[in-house]
Amino acid sequence: MTSANRDPSSFAIYTVENDCQDCYKCVRGCPVKAIKVENGHAQEIADSCIICGRCVEICPVGAKRVRDDVTPVKELLRSGRPVYVSLAPSWVGEFAGVSPSQIVQAIKALGFREVGETALGAQEVSASLARFLRHAGPGLYLSTACPSTVEYVIRYLPHLSNCLTPVASPLLAHCRILRKHMDPEGAMVFFGPCIAKKEEADTHKELLDGALTFQDLKNWFEEEGVDPRSFKDNSPRFFPLDAEEGNHYPIEGGMIETIKASGDFSHVRFLTVSGIYSIKKALDAADPSKLTSPVFIECLTCPGGCINGPGSSKDRDGLSRWVDVKEFAGPLDKAAGRTETVVVAEAYVPEIPATGDITEKQITQALFTVGKRSKEDELNCGGCGYDTCRAFARALVLGRAEDCMCVSYMRKKAHKKANAMLRSMPSGVVIADQDLQIVECNERFATFMGTEIQSLYQVSDGLKGAQLNKIAPAFAHLMSGVLETDQDVHYDHFRVGDKLFEITVFSIEPHFTVGAVVLDVTRREIRRDQIAHRADQVIKKNLATVQEIACRLGEHMADTEILLREIAEGYGSEGDMHEENK
Ligand code: SF4
Ligand code: SF4
Ligand code: SF4
Repeated sequence: MTSANRDPSSFAIYTVENDCQDCYKCVRGCPVKAIKVENGHAQEIADSCIICGRCVEICPVGAKRVRDDVTPVKELLRSGRPVYVSLAPSWVGEFAGVSPSQIVQAIKALGFREVGETALGAQEVSASLARFLRHAGPGLYLSTACPSTVEYVIRYLPHLSNCLTPVASPLLAHCRILRKHMDPEGAMVFFGPCIAKKEEADTHKELLDGALTFQDLKNWFEEEGVDPRSFKDNSPRFFPLDAEEGNHYPIEGGMIETIKASGDFSHVRFLTVSGIYSIKKALDAADPSKLTSPVFIECLTCPGGCINGPGSSKDRDGLSRWVDVKEFAGPLDKAAGRTETVVVAEAYVPEIPATGDITEKQITQALFTVGKRSKEDELNCGGCGYDTCRAFARALVLGRAEDCMCVSYMRKKAHKKANAMLRSMPSGVVIADQDLQIVECNERFATFMGTEIQSLYQVSDGLKGAQLNKIAPAFAHLMSGVLETDQDVHYDHFRVGDKLFEITVFSIEPHFTVGAVVLDVTRREIRRDQIAHRADQVIKKNLATVQEIACRLGEHMADTEILLREIAEGYGSEGDMHEENK
């Protein structure tokens, strides 16, 4: 099978760009970093993705979505072709209290011809594996039931591709079984908890026409008003027959139980690993050549197995699902003596995502662009979504990341910008906390407070932590009021001793942080007074002249006086005045 050169426009997972909030949670959570951030928006890289669905599950705003395949399946049904269903065995955990007969009738009520159990395919897979392992020599053997794990191995551990057992997945095996029994014109659709099955449908169009999730099925039932529990629990069963031990597959260890139940495998070491991070831990550094006996690992990308797959609804806990599957799955004794009825062989070849060669120099340069100039600068804090600064630098070189994703770099940059602005502002700025301790202030503010405070500013880390009450009691009073009321205040003229300030006090974090912008307007006001005084003298002088002229001319005197008085008042009494005695 091959899925090289996937078409990103029709890939199984996509991002709604406008909904993406640039939080990088998906980058952090993606086990293979198959997410590219461009212009602040996260997009999956189709050729690198292992379709584990983790990003869809963790995106806090639902911007990561699973491709809608319901519409094309509905079209298939409308086309008149008989459509058959392969139903994943975890359905019992998803539809609690619904019997096999009821789920079959409910699905058929949507227009499907027949419903078969994917577990039938699982039984064939176990039979094939049992035959394969019976004579296996020392080495590593990896299960291939989980398409997401297979994607991980062929893309990221290509040297272990030959350890993948040459067996198809239960779904593809089931497709082959059903195609022997169904109408030759029929189409086939999967319903289950797995998003990775969409990739199987995309790459095996000759076998499978679509893969939908349990969530899709639930929504569809709701739309059509179909309630599985409303059907009588009577005869209709699965097509062409019910599965048996294959129903153990959706829980971790289930596959191994069915293999062991089919014979003596005492020469094989069996191990179950579920969850992609556990798989990475087990396999990333594994060296199969060191193994002295056959080791078979059942690998499932979803923690606990398919019952917790990303396409299942979140309304039931994992334990309840596990109990339901265990109770339904029944005895394993049918596994003994089971043989394959269809060909389940499958070959797996490496498909390494193209990344090109990255030199050490490129990485160093990329680190430099985000202010990492020495080993100590590499915090490896994970804020960018990558585990290490070097991994982030690699992503920068590959064009998968942007420098603004580095939190420490952006914080430093913002700090530098803020400091530069504070330094160059003509106004004084002070920020204080709820205890009126100075958090930040600029030198201009210290200068306004007098030479003593200005000297203190130079020697005391910019007055950080100083009590505003002691440094500027009048301002402290105003700022404490704003902390209390959370209402901004502004005064054109705020008198402190012989100085006049224009001041705005504003809330930054209600009741916790407050800021003030202060401008010393004393000189400006003195000049204004002087101008007003001179204008008054001119007015008086002119008035006498005007009165004389007006007396002579007998007109315009009153108008001129009013006009000149208005000018004088405009200079002399502009703005409000707030007095504060020191
Ligand atoms: S998790 Fe990813 S897709 Fe979702 S909002 Fe955050 S960055 Fe965007
Ligand atoms: S589906 Fe998995 S591998 Fe693909 S982008 Fe999402 S988290 Fe990464
Ligand atoms: S564990 Fe099951 S549901 Fe999860 S990705 Fe693998 S096959 Fe799909």
